[in-house]
Amino acid sequence: MSVYLPTELRQQLEKADDRCCAYCQTLQANSGQRMVPDHIMPESQGGKREFENLCFACRLCNEYKGAKTTGIDPQTGETTALFHPRQQNWADHFAWEEAGTRLIGLTAVGRATIITLNMNNGIIVPARQRWVSAGWHPPKH
Ligand SMILES: [Zn+2]
Repeated sequence: MSVYLPTELRQQLEKADDRCCAYCQTLQANSGQRMVPDHIMPESQGGKREFENLCFACRLCNEYKGAKTTGIDPQTGETTALFHPRQQNWADHFAWEEAGTRLIGLTAVGRATIITLNMNNGIIVPARQRWVSAGWHPPKH
């Protein structure tokens, strides 16, 4: 979905997210596609088009997230809120497996977000393997 953002807001997001997906950390330069603005709380549920409710996301994370705000923690089976990139710290909820190709959830929020957004999907993991073998290291946020 294409979302119009005023230039100033777009620049603010680019600076905050460093042209990488606020969820899976895929770099725009690696994905070959422009990051899309993601409404953390969907507009359909009253989420506003403002910095505190927007982040950049890769197309896959954005599509899998859709209008969801919660997911199931696979460890407990309980419904939990998805990761909020503006209110929570990425490294508190996610880590990289040693090889740098698969994400691990450190908390219920992290685990539910990985499953719901399918952040270790069959397209991105092989891509990460290529980036890692070319010398890429996952960014540490
Ligand atoms: Zn992503």
